[in-house]
Amino acid sequence: MNQRTVTIAKIKTGIVIDHIPSGKAYLISQVLGLNALARETGDIIAIGINFESPSMKKKDIIKVENLSLTRDMLNVVALIAPIATITRIEDGEVIEKHRVETPTRIGDIVLCPDRFCVTNHEQVPGKFDVVNKDPLMLKCYYCETEFFGPLIKYKEKN
Ligand SMILES: [Zn+2]
Repeated sequence: MNQRTVTIAKIKTGIVIDHIPSGKAYLISQVLGLNALARETGDIIAIGINFESPSMKKKDIIKVENLSLTRDMLNVVALIAPIATITRIEDGEVIEKHRVETPTRIGDIVLCPDRFCVTNHEQVPGKFDVVNKDPLMLKCYYCETEFFGPLIKYKEKN
């Protein structure tokens, strides 16, 4: 097989999110607010789309310099890319590599699709149970609406 070798900017310190389903890197970047972060910090953010992968055929990759992921950020990645791997790099060395874990409950990172839900009318931060992991199905803690597929709308930061 003729494998193309494609490289993506090396980072000295930061994180690499690998094994993202192809086409999902941009959504992850939007929900994590990476554009705003890049503007703020001036750090490198590299988004690779449709890289060849033996296990996934095509995959996306995100590299972010000088970033560590918070719990909410990790949850976003796990929901959108359930088999993603996170690699932490410090001074050019891989210091940690792990697969994301789908949480059983998430915070205010998606919108409840029920327009009568309290979270859509008052300053109540959303809270959701993960009813099913793949395909992803969520249930609102407040109004108990269960939803999946295109009804899952992430709160985009930019
Ligand atoms: Zn709700």
